[in-house]
Parts: sequence; structure tokens; C-alpha cells
Amino acid sequence: MLGRRCPSCAERIEPAVLFRSRPCPSCGARPSWAALDQAESVVEALAARWGRRRVWAYAVLGLAAGVAGLVPLLSTFVALAFMLALRHAVLVEPLRWFGPARRFTTSFTLQLWLATTGLVTFALDALLGMVPVASFALKGLACLATTALFVEAALWLLRNRVRREAREGPELEAWEWALPTAALGGTLVATGGAVAAFVFLVHVVTGLFR
Ligand SMILES: [Zn+2]
Repeated sequence: MLGRRCPSCAERIEPAVLFRSRPCPSCGARPSWAALDQAESVVEALAARWGRRRVWAYAVLGLAAGVAGLVPLLSTFVALAFMLALRHAVLVEPLRWFGPARRFTTSFTLQLWLATTGLVTFALDALLGMVPVASFALKGLACLATTALFVEAALWLLRNRVRREAREGPELEAWEWALPTAALGGTLVATGGAVAAFVFLVHVVTGLFR
């Protein structure tokens, strides 16, 4: 339980009140600087909760992805299933503590990050399939590395933003919306380029046989 007590009326409150995105349901107060220590202790409790499970989660993942590596591209599905499960278990709850704008931009950034690390996993899985003998062990390690990268970077972002929410309130910093916008723009431009190249190729090939 990550709940704390309201600094004004001492009723039990959820972290969103401490992080100032919502007023206290009992007394209507928005906790101020006085609540910063409590907010910090919630962030630490969150980190400790994942810290206790981290080693086990990664050991199971490495083993499962290695065994799955015997079947082409199955490791990617194992890693993606782990990423989604860990996102649900570790990353979803803190998002509820943010105000609406930060909740949207942070959640969107994490989805783009999941897509990026998922694609890297897929590419590594396909490439390592060509390595003789040791390919399944390498796949296990690669899935472990990309999943850990996804979870740890996502947790870093959440902790960083939760502290910001507690200190400054729910107003966004420029990079919080600029980063996901730029990443999405980059993806759209790359997709547009790939489609244009494909259309051009089809055009050239059909032209050759006319
Ligand atoms: Zn209160």
C-alpha cells in the first residue's frame, strides 16, 4: 500500500493527492511543500517494491527467452509478453498519480518506448537466429537486455516525473510533449519514406515487364 496521510486533515489519501494533481477528498487541501518528504517516501517505496522482484523476474525471463530461442522468433513474443506484464505490474499505477496532461504525455512516451524496444528485440532475434549453435543463449541474453532497458528506463522516467509533479505541480516541461511528438513525427516520416520507396520499386519493376 502506497497511500499516506493528508498533511492537513490526517485522513488516508492516495499518492495522487500528495503529488498535487488532485485535492484531498476529505478537506479539499492541496498538500504543498510540507508533503515533499512523504512524496519522496512513496517514490522510494515504489522503487523498493520492484527492487525485491527484479532479480527473479529477469532470471525467469532470460531462461524462458533462451528456451524459446530454439523456435525462430518465439523469443520476441516471450520478451513482448514480459514487457506488457511488467508494464502492467510496475508502470501503470504511478501514471494514475499525474494530472491529465502529464498522464497522457508520459503514457504516450512509454508506449513509443515499448514499441521501439520491441522492434529492437525483433531485429536482434532475427539476426541472432543466424548464429550457429549458441544462438538460443544469445537470444536469451538479448531479450533480457532489451526488456531490462525498457523497464529500467521507464521506471527512471516515472520516478523523475513523479518528483517533478510533487515539486512543481502538474504543469508540463516543454520536452515532455516535444519528445513524444518528435518521436512520433520521426516514425511517421520513416513510414512515409518506406511506403514511397516501395511504390517507386513497384513502379520500376512493373515498368520493366511492360
Ligand atoms: Zn485532507
